[in-house]
Amino acid sequence: MSAEKHAEVAIIGGGIVGCAIAYYVAKAGMDCAIIEKNDIASGTSSRCDGNITIVDKDPGFDSKMSLVSQELTVDLNNDLELPFEYRAHGSILVCDNEEEMEAATEWVKVQNDSGLKFNVLDQVDIRNESPYFADDIPGGLECETDSLINPYLFCYSLIEKAKQYGLKVITNSEVTNISKEEDFIIETNKGTFTAKKVVNAAGVWAPFIGEMLDIDIPIRPRKGHILVGARQEPVMMRNVMEFGYLMNKFGRDRKVDARTAEHGVALVLEPTESQNFLLGSSRQFVGYDGRVDINVVQTVANRALRFFPKMKDFNLIRSYTGLRPWTEDHLPIISSVEEVPGFFIAAGHEGDGISLATVTGKLIEQLIKEEETVIPVEPLRYDRLAEGVTL
Ligand SMILES: Cc1cc2nc3c(=O)[nH]c(=O)nc-3n(C[C@H](O)[C@H](O)[C@H](O)COP(=O)(O)OP(=O)(O)OC[C@H]3O[C@@H](n4cnc5c(N)ncnc54)[C@H](O)[C@@H]3O)c2cc1C
Repeated sequence: MSAEKHAEVAIIGGGIVGCAIAYYVAKAGMDCAIIEKNDIASGTSSRCDGNITIVDKDPGFDSKMSLVSQELTVDLNNDLELPFEYRAHGSILVCDNEEEMEAATEWVKVQNDSGLKFNVLDQVDIRNESPYFADDIPGGLECETDSLINPYLFCYSLIEKAKQYGLKVITNSEVTNISKEEDFIIETNKGTFTAKKVVNAAGVWAPFIGEMLDIDIPIRPRKGHILVGARQEPVMMRNVMEFGYLMNKFGRDRKVDARTAEHGVALVLEPTESQNFLLGSSRQFVGYDGRVDINVVQTVANRALRFFPKMKDFNLIRSYTGLRPWTEDHLPIISSVEEVPGFFIAAGHEGDGISLATVTGKLIEQLIKEEETVIPVEPLRYDRLAEGVTL
């Protein structure tokens, strides 16, 4: 097999997770290749928001892992040459009613107790954030360390740097089968590749890669819609979500109208660097159907008006959807696989793949090198989910 067709490490999937892995593995001096079905960032990583947040993470392991990822992203902002619209202004959650305000105050306390920089915001603080907010919002909270990136640019920035460290980039190549003899044999529609180790970073498609080696990977696509606002006067300078976003993400009960509940809609507003804004989002299990549903678009727009009533005069220019790779316990799978030595999984980041890509890349590098990891990987093992999830 020629050097172009063989690598020490083959990474399947050129989304943000695969690109971050490629960067760390190539930087560590390993001979590696990334194999992508379409183009870099053509999957969920270009159909999402760009928030690197702790504000929406469960206190404990989840939020600690995000903090490490945020810190590594600061390093990358210094190391990578292509800018990726990194902005570190913190982010806020707003409450719909007094009941949520009480829960938010409790949330801040729990996060502070675990050493994270959260603050309660009152009604006046919220008005000072943006003149577009509704007057009756009782308050909310902020997380000081949260940041924003452009995930699409981030992928290309990681790949450009990884190429300098020797990464081979194989695009428009769909992996159709994998078998293992002494090396892994990876068949694609562009020919056959071999590798000593394989990382499955195929996002919502990771289960299909797993099946090729008889490995069950319990990840399901959870669809989300985003609306894009026309460029106009800045609405906000930092990311804002509603407190109910947490309830949706973790599947808890909320007091909202039937349509908002049915489409799993909760406000997320992300200001882009060019001052468009992204309005989201919804959460639905509808298989791999990525079509835009106008009913969901309307629900997202209506929910935004609850918090930003003056937006009724704003123009929206388009909408799109993405598929979040969901796991039952809301944590990704970042793991070696005992049954197939040399096979690793890095998938299942649901709505957190942008936040957690960097730490995932670092962890896979360390797992491959059999080194101590920056955070414990036990909670991320793939076999924790082996029972009880129906795909
Ligand atoms: C509406 C929405 C908003 C979101 N907002 C945020 C946010 O603000 N913050 C956050 O942290 N997360 C957010 N997310 C989640 C985040 O986008 C995902 O977790 C992340 O993009 C997943 O990245 P990935 O690399 O695992 O998957 P992907 O980006 O989907 O990459 C997987 C790649 O594998 C390739 N592939 C698949 N099968 C094969 C094959 N057989 N051969 C070769 N290649 C293959 C695909 O083409 C694809 O490019 C959001 C998601 C959605 C839908």
